[in-house]
Amino acid sequence: MMIDIDFDKNHIWHPYTSMQNPLPVYPVAKADGVYIELEDGRRLIDGMASWWCMIHGYNRPELNQALTKQLDNMAHVMFGGLTHAPAIELTELLLQITPPSLQKVFISDSGSVAVEVAIKMAKQYWINQGQQNRNKILSLRGAYHGDTFGAMSVCDPVNGMHHLFEGSLPLNYFAERPACRFGEPCLEEDLSSIKLLMETHKTELAALILEPIVQGAGGMWFYSADYLTKIRALCDEYDLLLIADEIATGFGRTGLMFACEHANIEPDILCLGKALTGGYMSLAATLCNEKVSDRISENGGVFMHGPTFMGNPLACATAIASINLLLNSPWQDRVTNIEKQLSKEFESCLESKSVSEVRILGAIGVVEMKEAIDLKFAQEFFVSKGVWIRPFGKLLYIMPPYIINSEELNQLTQAILTFTKLLP
Ligand SMILES: *Cc1c(COP(=O)(O)O)cnc(C)c1O
Repeated sequence: MMIDIDFDKNHIWHPYTSMQNPLPVYPVAKADGVYIELEDGRRLIDGMASWWCMIHGYNRPELNQALTKQLDNMAHVMFGGLTHAPAIELTELLLQITPPSLQKVFISDSGSVAVEVAIKMAKQYWINQGQQNRNKILSLRGAYHGDTFGAMSVCDPVNGMHHLFEGSLPLNYFAERPACRFGEPCLEEDLSSIKLLMETHKTELAALILEPIVQGAGGMWFYSADYLTKIRALCDEYDLLLIADEIATGFGRTGLMFACEHANIEPDILCLGKALTGGYMSLAATLCNEKVSDRISENGGVFMHGPTFMGNPLACATAIASINLLLNSPWQDRVTNIEKQLSKEFESCLESKSVSEVRILGAIGVVEMKEAIDLKFAQEFFVSKGVWIRPFGKLLYIMPPYIINSEELNQLTQAILTFTKLLP
């Protein structure tokens, strides 16, 4: 059946769009490996891994099999009062690959929910100690943590839609975006903004939330591991819980399994999502240490959250297969090779006058332009070049599936290079 693009336009919301004058969307017939195939037969190399998720590429036999095998047993069952092998096996795997202090796992259905759960955990941690006043969250400018209200309230206050929802968002505090870059030391002055906030608001703060090393959708910014180490120490000093949102960075994207490993730190609460199922289904997890779980559970306390699709067996089974596939693959070499090739091939972007900066870390390549990019024009251009790249603001970026080969990656970088030369 042909996809009815007019019906789509008239009735279906796409992310961040108007129903009156939406940008064109391209009908996809199927996807395989690193290729997205449009209905008219054009094949596009996916430079976005479908928003960080598709780390193994599309249509992986191992994941297809895990999903269909689980389907034969049970698609879903409620998690209240019941449990099942996929949830248990997934949790065992997560405990093996995440920091050892994280021992309790809440399996939910999307990244934003994992962040809501993390924030709620941090607040209940203090409530159950009789410190209801410690209910504010400290966050960083340039952060992105999701689109639900709690998550939005810790996104960058300027590009995170705070003005739009003024009055209905919980008020939180924001420190400057870490100025010290990845690979650089963190100086005393880089911490002054956050230290001041910690000191001034120490009686109100419950937790600090951050995306370790890479701020993703809030600006694709890579910051110093040393900063993260010092932040962990500051959280201890001020008795703040540290929430690490690794929804984008988790599962190898930055070159290590989790970005916290760059700084050798353990957060009190960790959020996972996106690549958790290899991009197959919506699934997320919030892990916490026993300091957090003990406090919440003390004196008859219960953690007050329970989504309908919590621990969905199909999603858990797919996540198990995806993590095993990752662990049994040379993912680290693949990410390193992507990093090397991006560094080499993006170098000449700097010759274009339209480019202000190039940043590369792991399997993430960012070309920051001087001016905001026209999305419609860019989308059409990249599709005409046989690649799928979707810029935002001034940023052109790619984060391909790890299985991409060097010719395919070259096609992505060449498309970006050509694009930057088109602009004045
Ligand atoms: C995408 C993302 C989220 C939100 O996840 P959803 O699955 O879109 O709700 C939260 N935090 C970070 C760092 C993300 O990149």
